[in-house]
Amino acid sequence: VLSIDGVWKTFGGHSVLRGIDLEVEAHEVVSLIGASGSGKSTLLRCVNLLETVDDGTIHLDGDEITDPRVNVDDVRKRLGIVFQAFNLFPHMTVLDNVTLAPRQVHRVARGPAEEQAHDLLARFGLADKARAYPDQLSGGQQQRVAIIRALATQPRLMLLDEVTSALDPELVVEVLGIIRELKDAGMTMILTTHEMGFCRDISDTVCFLDGGVLLEKGPPEKIFNEPENARTREFLSSVL
Ligand code: ATP
Ligand code: MG
Repeated sequence: VLSIDGVWKTFGGHSVLRGIDLEVEAHEVVSLIGASGSGKSTLLRCVNLLETVDDGTIHLDGDEITDPRVNVDDVRKRLGIVFQAFNLFPHMTVLDNVTLAPRQVHRVARGPAEEQAHDLLARFGLADKARAYPDQLSGGQQQRVAIIRALATQPRLMLLDEVTSALDPELVVEVLGIIRELKDAGMTMILTTHEMGFCRDISDTVCFLDGGVLLEKGPPEKIFNEPENARTREFLSSVL
């Protein structure tokens, strides 16, 4: 689905990504872990074309999306993105938040868009919240709506950047539950997280980033139980 090859990104002389190579297969869940500032969000932002890469390429379903001539909106249509802050539109109901992109970007008619939105809300336990405004929901519910909104355009790939880190611990569980359901439904995802238990549980592949270098990559059992790199061991012992 996604192929990242030799990606470099430098901000004002400071290289934040240093030759990242990463392949993501269909239905695969890839987690990015590493210390604050290691480049996890920047890598997701490069995939989403919020940043331009300085060197290297990224291909999505075989199309080079780092080609300067690429249509950015067209690429973003194929991605579902959820960030730490919920970013729901406060003046719009849950239903309008969820149907906005399908209607405006994908030109789906109101009827089918709302039907699909109601299906998604029901599937994720928010059927009775369609007419509510974001400030009438808990943080966990808001983040579930943000995920549902990203799903409503039927993305090829979901990018989830620390979607639980702004939540109280008791609300984290419900958001993790929805990500688990997405995995079970076969969604391809790249996520960053500081929740190591969840990372271990959900990931097919875990990538450890250190100073913009992808130092170690492997199945969670391998990374958490027998990390090869001393830096990986050091990081894990500081967070586990
Ligand atoms: P965290 O775990 O705290 O979210 P991260 O791994 O996501 O960290 P990034 O947000 O990717 O880290 O940031 C990597 C480095 O790039 C940091 O040193 C950050 O200050 C720098 N950086 C990110 N965006 C910019 C920008 N637009 N301009 C300048 N520097 C930036
Ligand atoms: Mg980050």
